Amino acid sequence: SLSIGIVGLPNVGKSTLFNALTKSGNALAANYPFATIEPNVGIVGVPDDRLPKLAEIFGSARVLPAKVEFVDVAGLVKGASEGQGRGNQFLANIRETDAICQVVRVFNDPDVTHVDGEISPKRDIETINTELIMADLQTVEKAVPRLQKEARNNKDRKVALEAAEAALRVLETGKTIFESGLDREELRELHLLTAKPFLYVFNLDADELTDTALREQLSTLVAPAEAVFMDAKIESELVELDEEEALELLQSVGQEESGLRQLARIGFDTLGLQTYLTAGPKESRAWTIRKGATAPEAAGVIHTDFQRGFIKAEVVSFDDLVELGSIANARSAGKARVEGKDYVMQDGDVVEFRFNV
Ligand code: GDP
Repeated sequence: SLSIGIVGLPNVGKSTLFNALTKSGNALAANYPFATIEPNVGIVGVPDDRLPKLAEIFGSARVLPAKVEFVDVAGLVKGASEGQGRGNQFLANIRETDAICQVVRVFNDPDVTHVDGEISPKRDIETINTELIMADLQTVEKAVPRLQKEARNNKDRKVALEAAEAALRVLETGKTIFESGLDREELRELHLLTAKPFLYVFNLDADELTDTALREQLSTLVAPAEAVFMDAKIESELVELDEEEALELLQSVGQEESGLRQLARIGFDTLGLQTYLTAGPKESRAWTIRKGATAPEAAGVIHTDFQRGFIKAEVVSFDDLVELGSIANARSAGKARVEGKDYVMQDGDVVEFRFNV
């Protein structure tokens, strides 16, 4: 399944954040009978206000949100790209994730030493990105001579060579492929780390959470990547509290939504994903698909047999369903559409599939 790797320098709050993710995920995972949770994987439900409404309409016994998997990719230190620390293992682990979430320390705490002395989000981001860029440079420098040879024998390979050469030029200027906006499709075969989508978690002091000037400045630093702001220490406390107490604690620091929920929501977006919905007396559920997925592909997320035996889908948009109050009403109002195998799923489609088994 799709996963986001968490990276960052030592002592920036990665473990604190990750423990909070795992705790909130364990509660969620109880709802997923076949989910096995590895020690370095945390699962977070993507906030979705539509699910309780669907559950009300269908009298569902439970709701299951879409989820995002976070992987703790420990061990990124200066020199990782040269095999320092557990550098090679680190790079192998991060290569398997679909996006990179960098945790950046902003909080001040004289009791928590910073590996490079001063607190400096900008420098820390550069340190981490430099390691990732160096690793990619090694990959591309190795690939270019091979691709030159291939392109000499096969002109179809010319695009791959040109893409690699363009990547080389970007990386040599100290930029990530992601921030350069270089077309990432042609580069896919190189599995470059910095071609993955990036997002940033800024770990702030509680009183900095409402400092809009600071937030603005940090957002600008990482654009076009998304930024999430949280106090990891507070997040680790929130997961221990019941809903009401959690809301009180959040409001006391001027927040409406926990950092973990924001991270799940923005992480989901960064991965290029969307959801569709199914509902019945047993459960109301959000399923994860890529933006642009067709109806059979969406059915395949439930079960591969559903995709293979796909006949058609009955689709009602969530808004119509809520307005009309039931599937039966939606049908008689002509708002239940029957869609075939070429239908491109829309966010918020409530779906029932028909298939042969
Ligand atoms: P990691 O090395 O990046 O995994 O960092 P940890 O999560 O282990 O955090 C290092 C230290 O910083 C621990 O003592 C944490 O309690 C503390 N810490 C983490 N997040 C915060 C925060 O938001 N504020 C403060 N004051 N301390 C934090």
